[in-house]
Amino acid sequence: MVLNLIFLGPPGAGKGTVAQAVMDKYKLVQISTGDLIRAEVAKGSDLGKKLSVIMSAGQLVSDSIVSEMLKSELSKLVSKKGFSGVVFDGFPRTIPQAEMLNGILLSHKQKLTSVIYIESSKEKVVARLSARWTCPKCKKVYNTLTMPPKKSGLCNDDNTALYQRDDDKPETISKRYDVFIEKTHPLIEFYEKKGLLKRYDGNVPPKESIAEAEKIIAKIAK
Ligand SMILES: [Zn+2]
Repeated sequence: MVLNLIFLGPPGAGKGTVAQAVMDKYKLVQISTGDLIRAEVAKGSDLGKKLSVIMSAGQLVSDSIVSEMLKSELSKLVSKKGFSGVVFDGFPRTIPQAEMLNGILLSHKQKLTSVIYIESSKEKVVARLSARWTCPKCKKVYNTLTMPPKKSGLCNDDNTALYQRDDDKPETISKRYDVFIEKTHPLIEFYEKKGLLKRYDGNVPPKESIAEAEKIIAKIAK
């Protein structure tokens, strides 16, 4: 049974951890469009040079270029012995990209097995991610939920008052969450209509979240 999966989830929902565990268990390969682009640039190929120009101009790499890279990567993987499936990372983000991915998979006699949506409420995401506090002096990072300093608000090593980096502030996290929902909502509806979306509540410890995802996959794989 080949599993071709996409994981979706807001920042802080544990998507990376769950995807990694599933890939290990089912021997799936990750296809990350970001990695493909970086690898091409590092190779210094003609395409790599083009990509490097596009990115240094702060522009987005076009869907058609990404599509070509995905096609050639998938060709390599599918022809390997023991191919058991892929997890797509960073792609698709839009409906046109999702349709393109369908076409790419079809041309390799593959199809998307499922899109697993790890849900998490904004309150939970903000609470989890805004627990990070940093020491301005020694840069040590604390987590008030899992690794609090011995004295509240002070660094263990040098007693300096801890602060929150902008990225760790509740308002920044809350905004990131809103952006994710706004951008991902159409994609979620798209896959829901196709009957491919499986969602579960990710507001549980990582082990339980992984077990939940594996339960969903076990059902599909039947
Ligand atoms: Zn310190």
